[in-house]
Amino acid sequence: MHTFFPGITEKEWTNWHWQIRHSVRTTEQLTRFIHLSENEISIFGKKAHTLPLRITPYYLSLIDRNDPEHALRKAFIPVLDELISSTGELLDPLSEEHHSPAPNIVHRYPDRVLFLATGFCSAYCRYCTRTHMVAKEKCHVGIKAWEPGLRYIEEHEEVRDVIISGGDPLTMPDQHIEYLLSRLRRIGHLEIIRIGTKVPVVLPQRITRSLLNILKKYHPLFMSIHFTHPDELTPEVKEACEQLANAGIPLGSQTVLLKGINDEVETMKKLFQGLLRMRVRPYYIYQCDPVPGSGHFRTTISKGLEIIRGLRGHTSGYAVPQYVIDAPGGGGKIPLLPEYYKGHENGYALLENYEGRVFRYPDYIQ
Ligand SMILES: *Cc1c(COP(=O)(O)O)cnc(C)c1O
Repeated sequence: MHTFFPGITEKEWTNWHWQIRHSVRTTEQLTRFIHLSENEISIFGKKAHTLPLRITPYYLSLIDRNDPEHALRKAFIPVLDELISSTGELLDPLSEEHHSPAPNIVHRYPDRVLFLATGFCSAYCRYCTRTHMVAKEKCHVGIKAWEPGLRYIEEHEEVRDVIISGGDPLTMPDQHIEYLLSRLRRIGHLEIIRIGTKVPVVLPQRITRSLLNILKKYHPLFMSIHFTHPDELTPEVKEACEQLANAGIPLGSQTVLLKGINDEVETMKKLFQGLLRMRVRPYYIYQCDPVPGSGHFRTTISKGLEIIRGLRGHTSGYAVPQYVIDAPGGGGKIPLLPEYYKGHENGYALLENYEGRVFRYPDYIQ
């Protein structure tokens, strides 16, 4: 089962602390597990990449050791292309630092804020939109550092929704998670709390009984889980999602559209149908943010529209997430839809269905 880690016990493997302690962080470690390609080898030793390497043993065990084109491998193992910068790329493309009225807070929309609770992740996605803050010394924040952010939310009664993100908040110890949730729950005007995380996918061992017992005390609590590819839908991840759903947490997914990884209708359909079977409702597909060195991951917008067109009508509406671009410069999420409305003719709207057939709806003012 754990081909890369022969001889370890089940107890160690299923312990999330063991998984974090034994995460792969260097080329030397990586070469013990994987036959690195030229493109992968060449990046190491180069100073320019700002995002460290980190992969949990569990997630590494899902990676094809011989195929550099394997989707999960491309999402986590750095390649030389990361050093290429293209037009329009920015370290903080969403201008989060300019929309931060208090430390750890991003307040962009009228009624909800992001709370960036930690800069640490158990695995670093190479296309990370928060390259500007993750894995930085300044962001290994703790309970004391949260105080100004908590005070900001307390003082802003218009905030009815907090999204705890990071970094990955579920990498924090139980006591820190409980502290943050209990402080937030004490704020009368706060209606819902959400957690944004990839932990159930890269470190499903973290979804322990004691964590679940904490989470279920703070409803209404929602969770957005970052999924990338159907190869991530393992029995371990299914178990983790089912436990979270059984704790009463509505689960949604967020997926970044990535070239050569998930930019095919069939791949996305398999992912979203698989997620519904795990009781996760597909929520967003994001156009890849223009962070430095992300050119090899980015597709055109027409690719995203093609994927939505290939899903809508062809499968359950529940399996069709909203496709958005987070506007560079801090404009927020802008939804994109293929054009199904084909204009007007003699008082009728012309509407194209999923098969490409045009229908007429009487649309006029009496
Ligand atoms: C994505 C995001 C949210 C949440 O947006 P929803 O559409 O409500 O899920 C809130 N704040 C910021 C800064 C965001 O980037």
